Amino acid sequence: MAEIRVENLVKQFGSFAAVRDTSFTVRDGDFFCLLGPSGCGKTTTLRMVAGLELPTSGSIRLDGEDVTFRRARERDIAMVFQLFALYPHMNVRRNIAFPLLCVGMPRAEIVRRVEAAARTLRIAHLLDKPVSGLSGGDRQRVALGRALVRQPKAFMMDEPLGALDAEFRHIMCGELRTLHERVRATTVYVTHDQLEAMSMADVIAVMNRGCIEQLASPQEIYDRPASIFVGEFIGSPAMNVLRFEGAVAPGATEVVLGDVPVAVPASREGRPGGPLVLGARPEHVSLRGEGGVRGAVTGVEYLGTTQVVTVDTAHGRVKARLPATDEVGVGERVGLSFRAPKLSLFDGTTGKVIRSALHDTPTQRPAAARSHHAPGLAHSPGAAHSLGASHG
Ligand code: ATP
Repeated sequence: MAEIRVENLVKQFGSFAAVRDTSFTVRDGDFFCLLGPSGCGKTTTLRMVAGLELPTSGSIRLDGEDVTFRRARERDIAMVFQLFALYPHMNVRRNIAFPLLCVGMPRAEIVRRVEAAARTLRIAHLLDKPVSGLSGGDRQRVALGRALVRQPKAFMMDEPLGALDAEFRHIMCGELRTLHERVRATTVYVTHDQLEAMSMADVIAVMNRGCIEQLASPQEIYDRPASIFVGEFIGSPAMNVLRFEGAVAPGATEVVLGDVPVAVPASREGRPGGPLVLGARPEHVSLRGEGGVRGAVTGVEYLGTTQVVTVDTAHGRVKARLPATDEVGVGERVGLSFRAPKLSLFDGTTGKVIRSALHDTPTQRPAAARSHHAPGLAHSPGAAHSLGASHG
């Protein structure tokens, strides 16, 4: 397996820059997600790493070796696509064996590798079946098997679960992560689905308009978004953004929204005056009878153990995740309060963070030890922790 180091990668299509000065390192054995909206440059980045697209400038190193201008087949990287690209006239065994047959591997070794991959993917019972009759999930397992038997230095996966329905995608996310725990193959995974990225990745690169906006662990990205874009892209419901005009002194622990003081985490940075944005995750907003930022309840969404209450304020729409037992109705006027250590403060002009939520614990945990849950995507965000991943 291998470390992938990408430096100052640029891809121009004519005058259009699809990827702009992108740098990141995928550590050996990491599951690395390129996450972002459609057209942000994820696939182009992946294709350059795989050798399917030549960069305009920049470099790509695989285990220290410069492979920037090497062809795909010289890079020892396996690709898995959304469209499974299986050969319909071959059975499962031959589909999985195909890349090994192409390089003339001895038959006994092919049999050994194909059967080992099929056992890992729990499709050994399907080996002699035609691929045409398989379910979407099984077809994807066959496609994974074909990548796995090659024992490549790294796997590149481009929206591999995109063709599956939502429920099955969720199941396959769990299976892919389990597979990764077992094989620990360096993996670069492209998706626009935050749930997939948050639940599987060791490190996520959030891309926007050809640039990486943040490169960190899922928990770090969720708790401490580097920009308004990241805060709003991650989480369901998204981070609330309250816009206001104001100044904030270095070290100050308070901002004023209209005439309401709101406590925020302290930082060395300040702003002399201008547009500011307060970022608050829905679970860090609560209702107060009087005081706080005032607004009118415009929606209540019951979710079983919790409810999402929508409040329209002078600074924007706010969603609060509250216990389902809290009594609140549409049309009520309420005051909002915020959990100060968990807030982010952004520069309203650049969109970049000025102050981040405080870390719950100062200790760092190694990648292999992190537990996989998607904060704020399930209903029970876990204890915050950070890898402090600052690659690139
Ligand atoms: P999606 O999930 O929709 O594929 P993406 O983030 O993977 O999005 P890319 O496929 O990398 O985005 O494309 C980034 C931008 O580059 C898009 O605006 C796309 O139209 C453009 N692009 C990609 N390939 C080419 C090409 N061969 N020629 C011209 N423009 C291209």
